[in-house]
Amino acid sequence: FKNYFTDPERAEAAIKLVLREKKVTNYELTARARDGKKTVVSYNATTFYDRDRTLQGVFAAARDVTERKGLDQALQDKNVELERAKIAAEKANLAKSAFLSTMSHELRTPLNAILGFSELMSDERYGTLNDRQHRYVSNIRTGGKHLLKLINDLLDLSRIEAGHMELARESVAVDTAVSEVLNALQPLADGKSQHLVKDVEKGLAVWADATRFQQVLMNLLANAIKFTPNGGSIQISARLTDERIRVEVQDSGPGIPPEEQKRIFEAFYRLRQPGQAPEGTGLGLAITQHLVKLQGGFLGLESEPGKGSCFFFELPAGGRVTSPLPRDESPLPATTKRMRILVIDDDPDAAQLIRSQLTASGYEVDLCDQPERATELTAQLQPDAITLDLLMKPVHGWEILRQLKSNPRTALIPVVVVSVADEPGGSATLGADAYLVKPVEKEDLLAAVRRCLGRKGGVPLQRSVLVVEDDTYTRELIGELLRGQGYSVVTASDGAEARSAVEESLPELVILDLMLPKISGLELLVEWRAHPRTADLPVFVLTGKDLSPDEEKYLHSYAEALLHKEQPWKEDLLNQLQRALGPTPRGKA
Ligand code: ADP
Repeated sequence: FKNYFTDPERAEAAIKLVLREKKVTNYELTARARDGKKTVVSYNATTFYDRDRTLQGVFAAARDVTERKGLDQALQDKNVELERAKIAAEKANLAKSAFLSTMSHELRTPLNAILGFSELMSDERYGTLNDRQHRYVSNIRTGGKHLLKLINDLLDLSRIEAGHMELARESVAVDTAVSEVLNALQPLADGKSQHLVKDVEKGLAVWADATRFQQVLMNLLANAIKFTPNGGSIQISARLTDERIRVEVQDSGPGIPPEEQKRIFEAFYRLRQPGQAPEGTGLGLAITQHLVKLQGGFLGLESEPGKGSCFFFELPAGGRVTSPLPRDESPLPATTKRMRILVIDDDPDAAQLIRSQLTASGYEVDLCDQPERATELTAQLQPDAITLDLLMKPVHGWEILRQLKSNPRTALIPVVVVSVADEPGGSATLGADAYLVKPVEKEDLLAAVRRCLGRKGGVPLQRSVLVVEDDTYTRELIGELLRGQGYSVVTASDGAEARSAVEESLPELVILDLMLPKISGLELLVEWRAHPRTADLPVFVLTGKDLSPDEEKYLHSYAEALLHKEQPWKEDLLNQLQRALGPTPRGKA
């Protein structure tokens, strides 16, 4: 017994087990033959009894399972190996994504400095450039932009390939989507005297991710414009065919030879036109094809050299359009403070005109067309400034001005008199802060309002903005931009500095980078939102980070604006700042 089984204790245990449990099944033991060869034996055993239920003995049947065991083992080894390979591949994939995401951030940061400062230079704010310098600065910008596009495209492609491209599909209005893309690209086509034609059936909806659908349209149209010579024409059409939306982009360009038609969809493949430097990254069509496929469609091409190209794709039709396309400018929540102007004028047309001049520049405007209620309304609304007409009934403007200035609740509110009556002398004695004669030029009106707002309460308005950014150049660039617009700027280079800056003195607005050493921007934001003193502090997030859907959701609810560094953000930032804080003394209205 001892010599027969390699593990005699296990064999003894088997006997005990069968006596106790009355049976065992598939109990495996390894037996050793005399020649030393090992055999795996599987036992089934039961006890048996006589009539008096006295144990008589044990039946045992043994089966040689050596071969099967070997197979099992081999299979198991193989599975383990596969599992290991899978884990390694997943790890590598994660590492690749993490690498790309970090790398792209690392690359974008200095690129932002290159693009931003070269833009400042070409604005000639700090001295004029000669022709050669202009050209060189413009070369720097062009190169920088190309690099930025390359980085963004690469990131997109790798995201798609790793299966990380998340799509939010909904019913998207085709007409609106196409129009927006055409509007964005019109200047490019105008620059080449090309004719852009839209032929979209009314009321079509496509089942797609709104942003990615527009990206597809953008890529195809931009290519058509790029590769079609000056004076050519490009048509985009969309129609319903068998429950699907078919979109075609047809150009009158050089066309693509049959042997190249497959290859142009490969990443980095570009057709070289003789004597032409390749533009673009060669990634556009690869990404476009993936995006169409991901949304359940197919991207195709019909083209003949000399006869133009037609890129087409089909996507499932959507139902009734429920949600409009996301706007670039997310609406500012009500918490953001805007300058509020009360327009007092009993002539509705005149009032409307002033209102639109002011709202176009980011002011919030209330109208009062009942002069007899003007003083009461002013006290109630507490606007930041008032425009006041004079020749009104039943109460004359002078009377309103007198009342306003003699009431402590309204005395400090600046008043801009806007009247057809040309008698500024009287208004000064009555305490008006500015006097304009109708018809008023928008610029004059805005300048007057700005001047008054600056003097409000005798203290010039301090539009202080805290810029939280760890990259020195980007910080300097943003500071420069804002100061150029008349904002007063405080900076912080990490989360801790930002935290204490806000504790010390509450800025009017914060521009916040997310990836900061030690305390992240997101942590700061959460902290500020939780505290009553800072809960309403307007925060603009400006980041180069790839946001997860959760982060994106959070920021959409808790930040006043979300700007991505990989997109052109400077104009956007200044516009949104104006809207949030009102115009600055030096800001262009
Ligand atoms: P990119 O436009 O960045 O070079 P794409 O992947 O978008 O890269 O396009 C690959 C190539 O396909 C282009 O370089 C061009 O040679 C060719 N191509 C794309 N669209 C057109 C078009 N409308 N007419 C002619 N050639 C085109």
